[in-house]
Amino acid sequence: MRIVLLGPPGVGKGTQGRRLAGELGWALVSTGEMLREAVAKGTALGRAAGRRIAAGELVEDDIMVGLVRDRCAESDAARGFVLDGFPRTVPQAGALDALLAERGQRIDVAIYLGAPEAELVRRLSGRLECPVCKRAYHRTDARPRDGHHCDDHPGIELRQRADDAEETVRKRLEVYRVQTAPVVDHYRRDGRLREVSGLGSMDEVYRSLKQALGRPVPDPDPDPDPTSSGAPSGAPSGAPSGGPGRGRPVR
Ligand SMILES: [Zn+2]
Repeated sequence: MRIVLLGPPGVGKGTQGRRLAGELGWALVSTGEMLREAVAKGTALGRAAGRRIAAGELVEDDIMVGLVRDRCAESDAARGFVLDGFPRTVPQAGALDALLAERGQRIDVAIYLGAPEAELVRRLSGRLECPVCKRAYHRTDARPRDGHHCDDHPGIELRQRADDAEETVRKRLEVYRVQTAPVVDHYRRDGRLREVSGLGSMDEVYRSLKQALGRPVPDPDPDPDPTSSGAPSGAPSGAPSGGPGRGRPVR
């Protein structure tokens, strides 16, 4: 199955996408991560993209489409993938349909995660990360033990990503409203859109997301068996019935 995660910055697409892809054994294609990596490495693409990202602007369509075309052709994406951060414009959505059609593939479902703007500003402008291990913190939601330094790297001051500064966050939300919100209609028009609330705990949002995909929802009771955490669940329909109790999905 191939899905795209849509929604404003700060709604939790990255977190939910990583969990979903991990559980179902699909590739997570996060264009935001790919771009940040290119910026950090100082590649030609990274230099071209870096300045626009820091200003809260979108990277050009042709750069993004090329990036996604190559990534989705890698072997780990053959079984399925979750796209996070792409498409961000209507032309990108059209280009994605076209490049998948060339391979006889399509996006099966687009999930729209939504949340009120005030909540998005609060979430994004409070984010902090450790420059050493990249662990994510939040000023109010996930405070480090001493308030300022990484729990695992005492003495290392947490920092805010340039694009999470409040002014840049407001710019990102405005760009989202103008350029990305119409992408939702692209998928609504042909019946591929499912809407999910991004409010609530990470687990609550994840359960809603799985339900929207028509996938079995994991047991909410904590499972003491560590070998089962993160294990894929939800065998695809058509998987042989009467298998072993835990029903490992066919890969
Ligand atoms: Zn750290």
